[in-house]
Amino acid sequence: MTIDPKFPVLLPTYKRTALSFIKGDGAYLFGNDGKKYLDFVSGIAVTAFGHNHPHLLQALFKQAELLWHCSNLFEIPDQTRLATRLVENSFAESVFFSNSGVEAIECGFKILRKYYDEIGQPQRYRLITFEGAFHGRTLAALAATGQEKYSKGYDPVVDGFDQIAFGNLNELRAAIRPETAGILFEPVQGEGGMRSLSADYLREVRKIADEFGLLLFLDEIQCGMGRTGKLFAHEWAGIKPDIVAVAKGLGGGFPIGACLTTAKVGAVMQAGSHGTTFGGNPLAMAVGNAALDILLGPGFLSQVVKMGDYIHQQLEKLLARFPKILASVRGKGLMIGLKCHVANTDFVDQLRANGLLTVIAGDNVVRFLPPLIITEQHVDEAIKIIALTCQQLALKPK
Ligand SMILES: *Cc1c(COP(=O)(O)O)cnc(C)c1O
Repeated sequence: MTIDPKFPVLLPTYKRTALSFIKGDGAYLFGNDGKKYLDFVSGIAVTAFGHNHPHLLQALFKQAELLWHCSNLFEIPDQTRLATRLVENSFAESVFFSNSGVEAIECGFKILRKYYDEIGQPQRYRLITFEGAFHGRTLAALAATGQEKYSKGYDPVVDGFDQIAFGNLNELRAAIRPETAGILFEPVQGEGGMRSLSADYLREVRKIADEFGLLLFLDEIQCGMGRTGKLFAHEWAGIKPDIVAVAKGLGGGFPIGACLTTAKVGAVMQAGSHGTTFGGNPLAMAVGNAALDILLGPGFLSQVVKMGDYIHQQLEKLLARFPKILASVRGKGLMIGLKCHVANTDFVDQLRANGLLTVIAGDNVVRFLPPLIITEQHVDEAIKIIALTCQQLALKPK
């Protein structure tokens, strides 16, 4: 085909900023505009250890010379090793590796349905989900997400999802019917606006799930892998879920997803029940293991908690200084949302012009997802830029 100047060669599924990056280094990105940016997007919570982390680079290079891909019809020792380490550090007893977050979610849907089928209750297939959720872009994940802005035009909707108000226990109880199989939600909503659910709420949901014989399925694709200061966000509540999907930070920038489950639930999956060509390949697993080395290193997660507390504190101070621009601070650990009185898109654009990369979220929130390796100096630098941005926006004529 000849190129049609009126139609982009990339399907126009993104409203892209006219900026690209030449290279990354730690918490910084270098733009094709010659500018250096402090990266508080991290590819949406993916490059959790910053750019070009030496330990990840070494693991990638070493594996690249040995073996990239191998079918899951053979044993992949690094896959077993990463699964073992995830199991040793979580509620889970078994892991399925995928390439993306939504595939980990889909795996969870399939395990859940198969579980009830195997225990002789195939009529139970429905999942209760929360308003403001985001679970990914496959047809089933869109149905679970339940937001028109993502699902418009893709009818018929996949059946089996019932949405309730965010964090409402009465609605949760009322939504349970004989067909209900489980409850699916993000302990801290990402795309929906960085809203976190309390530890008490999570414990109540676990109790309700037990009372009605439901499975608890958590989407920790954004809030998991150390983002909140625990390996998994649900650990803050001390509860044990039945299925957890993770991805984003798991590979530190290499595409990996994983669905974690217990032996009781996972036992329904047999050879042929599910599969993937690319998931869990040697290159991904080498990087995943290296990422986990860093995450589980001594003091790493407590430093995340410390930096999370520090940035929350500093943002609260800005809130007091700029009450006409900033409304509230939300989130947990290094998953931070700043609800604005001005349009979040204007705020993000101005922050970028001032050298700080951030991303919008629902509910007019600006999202900060810095790499987990940030220090106080990075936070101070970001706070300075945010303060300057507030000053500029305060002066801007409406
Ligand atoms: C990003 C995300 C997904 C989807 O992950 P993909 O890798 O884009 O498929 C699902 N759930 C949550 C909470 C996410 O943040």
